[in-house]
Amino acid sequence: MPIDPICKEPVNESTEFRSIYKNKEYYFCSENCKKKFDELDKSVIRVRRSLKDKERISFGKLKREIIDPGICTLCGACVASCEVLAIAAGKPALKGPCTACGVCYNQCPRTITTESSLIGNVRDVFSARSMLSEVKGQDGGVVTSMLLYALEEGLIDSAVVTVKSEDEPWRPVPIIAQTKEDLLRSAGSIYVHSLTMETLMSAIKRGSRSIAFVGPSCNIDAVHKMQNSPYGLLHMFMRANILKMGLFCMDTFNYEGIKKFLEEKAIPLSTVQEMKIRKGMFRVKAESIQIFPLNELDIYRNGSCTVCTDLTAEKADLSFGGVGSKEGHTTVLARTGLGLELFHDAEDRGYIRIEPLAKEGLESVLRQAKSKKVQMYMIKKRMEKGTAIKAIS
Ligand SMILES: Cc1cc2nc3c(=O)[nH]c(=O)nc-3n(C[C@H](O)[C@H](O)[C@H](O)COP(=O)(O)OP(=O)(O)OC[C@H]3O[C@@H](n4cnc5c(N)ncnc54)[C@H](O)[C@@H]3O)c2cc1C
Ligand code: SF4
Ligand code: SF4
Ligand code: SF4
Repeated sequence: MPIDPICKEPVNESTEFRSIYKNKEYYFCSENCKKKFDELDKSVIRVRRSLKDKERISFGKLKREIIDPGICTLCGACVASCEVLAIAAGKPALKGPCTACGVCYNQCPRTITTESSLIGNVRDVFSARSMLSEVKGQDGGVVTSMLLYALEEGLIDSAVVTVKSEDEPWRPVPIIAQTKEDLLRSAGSIYVHSLTMETLMSAIKRGSRSIAFVGPSCNIDAVHKMQNSPYGLLHMFMRANILKMGLFCMDTFNYEGIKKFLEEKAIPLSTVQEMKIRKGMFRVKAESIQIFPLNELDIYRNGSCTVCTDLTAEKADLSFGGVGSKEGHTTVLARTGLGLELFHDAEDRGYIRIEPLAKEGLESVLRQAKSKKVQMYMIKKRMEKGTAIKAIS
C-alpha cells in the first residue's frame, strides 16, 4: 500500500487525492496533504527520501543545539523546509508530529553537518603506537617516536618541542631539540600554554633548515600564518622547511591555577608524574592516581581556549590526539602528502606500528571536535550554572 509522503500514513491506491511529480504518482489521504505536497518544493521530499537510511535526527536536536542556546538567527530555513514547523513566541517550534527526517537540522546554517567542517581536510586516519621501549609518551608515544625517526634519518636538523622546567615542576619550557635525549624528555603533555613560536624563530635564526614543530592547534595556526601572511616574517620563514605536528587540544590552564588546585588537594606539583584529561575527567598520577571532574578546573582555563574552535590542529601536516584510540595508542590524522609519507616511512623503519582507526574511534573524534566548535555557544549556559570562566589573578 502506498504511503502518503506528507503524513506518512498508508493510503489506498484508489484515493482521489493524487499528484504526479517527475513521472511518479503520489497518493494522499486528504485534500490537505495533497495541497501541502503540491505547494512544497519537491527537492525537500527528495532529501528526506535520501536521508531514510541515515541517522534519524529529530527537531529536538535542532532545538537542543541551536534554538535553546540562543544561536538561532531566525533565518526561517527550518520552517520553510517542513510543514510541521512554525515560528512561535519568536522561535522555531513544532506544531505537529516530527518524523525525525533530519531535514530541518541539515538545512540550518548554524549546524555542523560535514566531517571536514569538524576536523578539516584529512587524507587518512589511524591509530598508532611507539615501537621504542624508551619512549614514555602521553598516549602511544607516536609524536616522540616520529621525531626520533625524522632526526635519526637526517630528515630534520632540529625539533621545537616542550619539556618540563627543571626549576619549577610542570612549568612548560619550549626547547630546540637536536638530540635523542632532548626528544625523550619532551614526551608527555603539559596542559599549560608553551611559548613555542619564539623558540621556532630562534631555531631558524640559528641556521636550522628543516624543523619539526610540535604544538596544539593555536600554535600550528601561528606557524601557518607566519608562513603565508604578507606584511609578516616571510623572509624568515622562507629559510626553513617546517613539518607541522599538531596536537589535539581542548584546553590549557593557568600554571598558577593548576598548582593551587593540586595543592588544595594535597598533591604538590613536584610529586606529579603524569596528568591526563580524558572524557571530562582530570587524572593525576602522583603517589596514587586521583581523578577529578574537569569542570573543577574551569576557573583556571585560559580565556583563549573558551573561544577556540579547532580541536584537531586543522592546518598541521599530521595531527595527534588521545581521543578515539584505546589506552596506550595515539590517534593520527594525516593531512598532507608529506605527513602521510613520513608516517608510513616511520612504520617501515620500525619506529611505530599503525592500525586503521576504528569507525567508533573516528566518531569519538568527531564528537569531541563538535563540542569544541560549539563551545562558545555554551559558555552563557555554563556561566548561568555558576562556573564562569575567569583567570586566576
Ligand atoms: C595542552 C594539551 C591539550 C590536549 N588536549 C587533548 C584533548 O582534549 N584530546 C585529545 O585527544 N588529545 C589532547 N592532547 C594531545 C594528547 O595529550 C597527546 O599529546 C597526543 O595524543 C600525542 O600523544 P603521544 O603519546 O603520541 O605524544 P608524546 O610522544 O608524549 O609527545 C608529546 C609531545 O607534546 C609536546 N607538548 C607537550 N605539552 C605541550 C604544550 N603545552 N605545548 C606544546 N607542545 C607540548 C611535547 O613537546 C611532545 O613533543 C592535548 C595535548 C596538549 C599538550
Ligand atoms: S524537518 Fe520536520 S519532520 Fe523533519 S526532523 Fe525537522 S521538524 Fe521533524
Ligand atoms: S534554520 Fe536554524 S538558524 Fe534558521 S531559523 Fe531554523 S534553527 Fe534558526
Ligand atoms: S584550546 Fe585552543 S587556544 Fe587553548 S591551548 Fe588549545 S589550541 Fe590553543
